[in-house]
Amino acid sequence: MKKREIMTMKMESRSENEEFARVVVAVFAARLDPTVEEIDDIKTAVSEAVTNAVIHGYRNGEGIITLEAAIEENILTLTISDEGVGIADVEQAMEPMFTTEPEERSGMGFSFMEAFMDQVEVISAPGKGTSVTMRKKIGR
Ligand code: ATP
Ligand code: MG
Repeated sequence: MKKREIMTMKMESRSENEEFARVVVAVFAARLDPTVEEIDDIKTAVSEAVTNAVIHGYRNGEGIITLEAAIEENILTLTISDEGVGIADVEQAMEPMFTTEPEERSGMGFSFMEAFMDQVEVISAPGKGTSVTMRKKIGR
């Protein structure tokens, strides 16, 4: 039988929840018997997406972040979504070193997500929030 498992979690937009989301995803992904390196990659990608939702999506204010995770065969799919301010130009936002906060940030979050996961898709529009879906094949 085809292996398929899903889980969904809703959390408040707080920086403490970055670590929480990382740990939840790491435990969920552990079922795929990943290497330590694969787990580190996944945790880094989750951190970057959740941090973006907290600081950009909700501008450090209140909001709900949704984390969805699915395992199908040996593919892990993660979606991190917010209902925050949204992104006007997604293509530009995903460019390495592009940031709307050049004083404080380096603009490398999306580049890390793309480097550490096999595929990253961003759906966003101003006022409509942002949804980041990432996929990674685990193991051989
Ligand atoms: P770094 O991740 O290196 O600290 P950064 O967060 O600015 O810097 P990216 O994570 O690559 O860099 O994001 C690029 C830009 O995309 C951000 O500066 C921000 O303008 C926009 N952005 C990213 N995620 C969101 C989001 N969830 N909601 C609104 N805007 C976002
Ligand atoms: Mg970022």
